Amino acid sequence: MIQLPALALEKRAARKLKDWQAEVNALASYAARVQAGKQRFKSRNTKRNATFNHVKDVLSQMCQGARRCSYCEDSVADEVEHIMPKDLYPEGVFEWDNYLYACGPCNGPKNSEFAVLAGAPRKLVTVTRPDGAPVTSPQAGSPALINPRTEDPLHFLFLDLLNTFAFDVRNAPAVTDDDRLRADYTLRVLHLNDRDYLVKARRTAFGTYRARLGEYVTQKQNGAAQAILDRHRDELLEVGHQTVWREMQRQQAMYPVLKALFDAAPEALAW
Ligand SMILES: [Zn+2]
Repeated sequence: MIQLPALALEKRAARKLKDWQAEVNALASYAARVQAGKQRFKSRNTKRNATFNHVKDVLSQMCQGARRCSYCEDSVADEVEHIMPKDLYPEGVFEWDNYLYACGPCNGPKNSEFAVLAGAPRKLVTVTRPDGAPVTSPQAGSPALINPRTEDPLHFLFLDLLNTFAFDVRNAPAVTDDDRLRADYTLRVLHLNDRDYLVKARRTAFGTYRARLGEYVTQKQNGAAQAILDRHRDELLEVGHQTVWREMQRQQAMYPVLKALFDAAPEALAW
């Protein structure tokens, strides 16, 4: 999971979402806002709705490659996901910054799962509403889930490129206790480590990135024209699972094989 590019909606769609959100916010009770928000989102998030067609277009542009999911980077993204669930936060149901494009296997289990950090010392508090429970506001606190629209997930997470290709909580002075709780929660709720196919896909991507960087270096050393080098770079960036590439850039000094490649092509550190 990497931070998504900050793209804006065109004015007309942005205004529509704002109007729709204001209508929900104006309802008197929390329960009414939850109910209306869910109902109105369902009826507007359709192929016939020009605003949502545009929303999906722009969310697609944020995705890697062939519209890969913004959480797992693996499956096709085909669901407008509310980062803060609409079942709990009706004030975010039509909020542009609360959307990303996700796949069913990510969106399904996440559903209305959510947690916040609250109290002193700060603790993780699950605010998911149990089935049949009264519709009341969740406990206040700051969201636990890492938000790739506004935050860099790699501030919180570290990908093991040596053995497991699993994510871990990043161990760095800048990572606070709150960040650790959030990283751990995000990995669990999105199942980023316990889906075997994701781990396998990251391992494969690593091999492909390394091979493509090797080809680039060979071409460069043979004096290939810039246009050919650019094509190799573009092909490398289409491999997918870009978290793997970002981690190869960040961790290259730890691995002699990678370091040799990046030393030969230091420009690749900025791709
Ligand atoms: Zn996914």
